[in-house]
Amino acid sequence: MNILFAVSEAFPLAKTGGLGDVGGSLPAALKEQNIDARVIMPRYSAIPVDLQEQIEHVATFKVELSWRKIQCNLSRLHYNEVYYYLIDNEYYFNRENLYGYWDDAERFAFFSKAVLESLTKLGDFQPDIIHCNDWHTSLIPLIMKENYGNNPFYFDIRTLFTIHNLKHQGIFSAEVFEDVLGLGGHVSAWEKLEFHGGINYMKSALLSADYITTVSQTYADEILHPYFGEQLDGVLRTRIDNLCGILNGLDTQKYNPQDDPNLVVNYRSSLCKKEENKKHLQELLNLPVRTDLPVIAMISRLVDQKGLDLLAHVLEEILSMDLQLIVLGTGDKKYEEMFEHFAAKYPHKIAVQLMFNEVLAHKMYAGSDILLMPSQFEPCGLAQMIAMRYGTIPIVRETGGLKDSVNPYNEYTGEGNGFTFANYNAHELLFTIQRAVRFFYDDKVAWKGLAENARKSDFSWAKSAKKYGELYQSLMQAGEY
Ligand code: ADP
Repeated sequence: MNILFAVSEAFPLAKTGGLGDVGGSLPAALKEQNIDARVIMPRYSAIPVDLQEQIEHVATFKVELSWRKIQCNLSRLHYNEVYYYLIDNEYYFNRENLYGYWDDAERFAFFSKAVLESLTKLGDFQPDIIHCNDWHTSLIPLIMKENYGNNPFYFDIRTLFTIHNLKHQGIFSAEVFEDVLGLGGHVSAWEKLEFHGGINYMKSALLSADYITTVSQTYADEILHPYFGEQLDGVLRTRIDNLCGILNGLDTQKYNPQDDPNLVVNYRSSLCKKEENKKHLQELLNLPVRTDLPVIAMISRLVDQKGLDLLAHVLEEILSMDLQLIVLGTGDKKYEEMFEHFAAKYPHKIAVQLMFNEVLAHKMYAGSDILLMPSQFEPCGLAQMIAMRYGTIPIVRETGGLKDSVNPYNEYTGEGNGFTFANYNAHELLFTIQRAVRFFYDDKVAWKGLAENARKSDFSWAKSAKKYGELYQSLMQAGEY
């Protein structure tokens, strides 16, 4: 079975969030299921130099974007037993950031068209399924039908589209339809892309892909309702028979406290050794070195999705407790300024690092006692799983993948691997933090048991990769959607 995994980021080549973790780990996990999964992604300038040096040229061809005929280089990298095909055009991808440019519609239309054009140039590899991920690759199913429908090479190729975050859909003005996509006159394509007078890349995938998955079962249910559906719940309901949720897994080698090179002391279950990482973290961030109080970490994009408005309401109360809060992240100005304000006001209680820093993230997973994730919605969420792997207790809101991966602690049975709250309510968040902090101070045995439960939770890819394998198999047997 040959799977081409089209994605806009894959660690360690490029990563801005959980999508990069999945791009960098699921294809390798599929290999373990005897599936030949290969990644195709843009060749960003952000790819580390040592990997850049190993990239080899495969082919050069032209990609048409309406009136533009654009040169595209296809190259290849073999890393960690996975082949990465790279779509290269300096103008589009030699930029400081991965996203956020005025011409993102054009950049990812180019990428999607280049993926389809490259299929005949991959040498010995012919995909059975193109597995597309998020809006950056969501034009692929539609354009394959519109532009390659008469080409026998493409007849038997099936498409799977995975929603990692329904919030980001790739919505652009209507001119893109003709001027960038060159689809003027394609009536059925317009119907699939049209969205309140503009066009919506993700909508087209929801209506064109042979099958749709998202990254947890709870999120798969939630997005069928208006509150979580981001105005596409109606479209999703039309695909209810071709939609399911498969929980993401973790790269358990990368996130392994036993041999993580970013830690000062490696550990398996020893709380003493974990404490050494706590001291190091406190020193590093100029906080008082105190192992007797709980350190709460947030490692997150600083955006509304992550529940930061809840936190804003009760941050004073949280900081009045005997604890330390460490925040690592970038995002909306209002949240960056909020944290800077509190860091200036309570320098001994809160440390804020407004940056993306992989090494510090690992140190925080190891050196904290609690990870906070009060998300408004969370398709899967990886940070809570990573935290648990490091014996750090998550506090989460019961939504999406947070609900599917964190079982609430039951003090009577000792079951559970974290603390949870149900409603999107600042005081529920505050009470849940207070409850966790009480256990930290007053019941060391319970706390140790919780840490053990968290550490032993299985978030490896094995189960989910098997589910993808079964899904691919059934897609190959089924007809075209
Ligand atoms: P999302 O994909 O919505 O951003 P996830 O929890 O699924 O959230 O994945 C976030 C990933 O990005 C985790 O691997 C987390 O450690 C990492 N991450 C988030 N913010 C930062 C940051 N500022 N620095 C380093 N890593 C970060």
